[in-house]
Amino acid sequence: MDISDVQSDITEVLLTEEQIAEKIGDLARRIEADYTDDDNLLLVGVLRGAVMVMADLARELRVQLNMDWMAVSSYGSGTQSSGVVRILKDLDTDISGRKVLIVEDIIDSGLTLSWLLANLRSRGAASVEICALLRKPEAVKVEIDVRYIGFDIPNAFVVGYGLDYAERYRNLKSIGVLAPHVYS
Ligand code: 5GP
Ligand code: MG
Ligand code: MG
Repeated sequence: MDISDVQSDITEVLLTEEQIAEKIGDLARRIEADYTDDDNLLLVGVLRGAVMVMADLARELRVQLNMDWMAVSSYGSGTQSSGVVRILKDLDTDISGRKVLIVEDIIDSGLTLSWLLANLRSRGAASVEICALLRKPEAVKVEIDVRYIGFDIPNAFVVGYGLDYAERYRNLKSIGVLAPHVYS
């Protein structure tokens, strides 16, 4: 689905399909430079927003890897982080001794990721790094070391390319700012 299909719900196209694809390629080149086939990298995608990033990034990576998924909840169906993280679906993989790369759509308050980092580290992973496609200004205040960042974006609620509002807009090919009339 393209922005033109939901035009009145989007105030601004922030990132086009082409810009996203180019950035995913850049991220993949940086990541594959840091891992070898022997590392048997484990990508951990955070459901559901990171599905598109995961699918495109994994196919760009020219290094052996496995994929697993976690589902956590921090937002409910609204636009504000609640700060309470719940595991809705845990990993199927034992990550002790594994090199793990968390794949995320967006970092806003950073609450979700700082919680996830601590959680995965406590399971004895050899390393846990983060790759996030988008980062909002608030995240700069949070003490988490995010090794791979795609774009720094303004402080607006964005949808598309996996990102939803009330489970809608995930299938937009580009990323846009959600019009306030949709959620107010
Ligand atoms: P944080 O804990 O960093 O505040 O937010 C984490 C999660 O909230 C993200 O992984 C994402 O699912 C959701 N989120 C944060 N900002 C946005 C946004 O602008 N748009 C959408 N659709 N989801 C967001
Ligand atoms: Mg997410
Ligand atoms: Mg969401």
